[in-house]
Amino acid sequence: MKYNLEKLIKIEKNYNKVRESNKILKDGSHMYLLRKMKKEFEEAKNIYLEKKAKIEEMESKCIKINKNIDLEKEEQKQSEYKLYNECGSNFGMMAKLEEQIEKHKSKIIEMENECIEFLEKEEEFKKEKEKLRQQLLKVKEDFYNCKEDASKKITKAKQEIVNVQREVDKLELEIPKEILEKLNLLRNEKGSAVVEVKKGVCMGCKIKISLITLNKLNNSKEIVCCENCGRIIYLGES
Ligand SMILES: [Zn+2]
Repeated sequence: MKYNLEKLIKIEKNYNKVRESNKILKDGSHMYLLRKMKKEFEEAKNIYLEKKAKIEEMESKCIKINKNIDLEKEEQKQSEYKLYNECGSNFGMMAKLEEQIEKHKSKIIEMENECIEFLEKEEEFKKEKEKLRQQLLKVKEDFYNCKEDASKKITKAKQEIVNVQREVDKLELEIPKEILEKLNLLRNEKGSAVVEVKKGVCMGCKIKISLITLNKLNNSKEIVCCENCGRIIYLGES
């Protein structure tokens, strides 16, 4: 009978493995994680696109300012030409032109400063954009790693169930029919059929077993059951 007990323990351990594998198959946590990562990716992507649009807006503003600077410079040149070539001794016209030239000059400086400010900001934005791009790549990589990891786990769990079931089928062939029926009944009712006794406590129902049962466990060659929960019990290595 002790020979059978070893097989019963093996069967029980295999059923526990099946339960663990089923847990992995039913576990939706990786799906949750993937969805969360996808959302994170979308959010980061939106921020990235916003930054990109802002940079483009700044670039077009700068182009516009530069065009205006060119226009202003052209007008300044014309005024200067008039000042040196067309005024003769008309002091009134000279003063007017000089005033215009000064106005053009200060306007040009103002626009150039504005442009420099834009360029500095643009530089900053470009750095931020690059950081965001790296972040996006990282999230994407994590997403695919997580997906691959989950699919590996699932494949492994499925394979484990097939392997374990094969072993259980083989072992069960060698167990007497009435014991097998008892095992199945216990497993259906309580979730486990064969449990260890640790420090005098049944690991199935967590209740201390009596001395009589403990003696039986130590000496009997029969299969012993917990007097409280009915599960088949055995003493562990210790
Ligand atoms: Zn028990």
